[in-house]
Amino acid sequence: MESSIDKKVNFHTHCYRCRHAKGTVFQYAEEAIEKGLVTLGFSDHIPYPDDSFDLRMPYADIEDYMNEVTELKEELEGKIRILLGFEGEYLLRYTSYYEKLLTNGRCDYLILGQHLLETKGGELFNVYQMKDTSLYEAYAENVVESMRTGYFRYAAHPDLIFFNDHPWDVHCDRACDILIDGAAKHGFALEYNANGLRRGEKAYSDGKRYPYPHKNFWDRVAGSGISVYVGSDCHEPAVLYDSCMDLAYENLAGRNIPVCTDI
Ligand SMILES: [Zn+2]
Ligand SMILES: [Zn+2]
Repeated sequence: MESSIDKKVNFHTHCYRCRHAKGTVFQYAEEAIEKGLVTLGFSDHIPYPDDSFDLRMPYADIEDYMNEVTELKEELEGKIRILLGFEGEYLLRYTSYYEKLLTNGRCDYLILGQHLLETKGGELFNVYQMKDTSLYEAYAENVVESMRTGYFRYAAHPDLIFFNDHPWDVHCDRACDILIDGAAKHGFALEYNANGLRRGEKAYSDGKRYPYPHKNFWDRVAGSGISVYVGSDCHEPAVLYDSCMDLAYENLAGRNIPVCTDI
C-alpha cells in the first residue's frame, strides 16, 4: 500500500461496449499514457450469459472485449501495464459464472459494483431507485456477503445508496456501520469513487452534497485501517484522470486515509 499519488493508476474504467460510455479501450489507453498512468485496468460492466439487465455489453461481445484488452496488454507492454477486469454485481444466481471468468486465464480481476440489491428471498431492487432508507441495511449486508466470496478485489462506490435523496437517519448510520465493520473484518478494500464527484454537488433534502462519496461514510472509514482505492469510473476517455481524481485524492489525504496503487 502506498499513500503517494505520484504513481498514477486506475482500475475502474469503462468503454463504449456497455452502451452508456464513450470511447474504445485504445482511446482510454492513449489517454492513460498521456496522463502518465503506470497501470490502467479495464472494468466494463459485466455481461451475464442470459443478457439480464440493461446498459451493458451484450454477452455476445465478451470475447471481443477480452481479446481487445489482451491484445492491448501485449501491444503496450513496457509503456503501461494494462489489466483486464469487469465490474460486476454480486448475485447468487451467477456464482459459477464469476468463478468461470476468474479462472479463464485472461481475466485479472473483478470489482464489485452492487447496482442491484438482492434480498435473501432473491428479490432484486435497483439501488438508484430506493423509495426510502428501509432497505439500506439489507444493501450493506448484501455487499458484505460479497466480501466473503473472494470473487471481488474491492467494492466500487460502497456508498452508492446515498445517491437517493432521503434525509440521513438511523438506517443510514447502520448501513455505514455494517459496510465498514464488514470491510474491516474481511480485510476487504473500498473504493472512493471519482465519478460520484463528477456528477457534481446537488441540492438534496438534507443539504447540498455529492450523491456519493458521502462525507459521513468516509469520515468513519478514516482511522479504520481499511484499504482504499480511488476509482475513476470514467465513461469517456477525456475524464479518465481529471480534476475529480485530484479532488478524490485530496479528500482522502484530508482524512489521512492512505490509498492503494496496486491490485
Ligand atoms: Zn457505467
Ligand atoms: Zn463503474
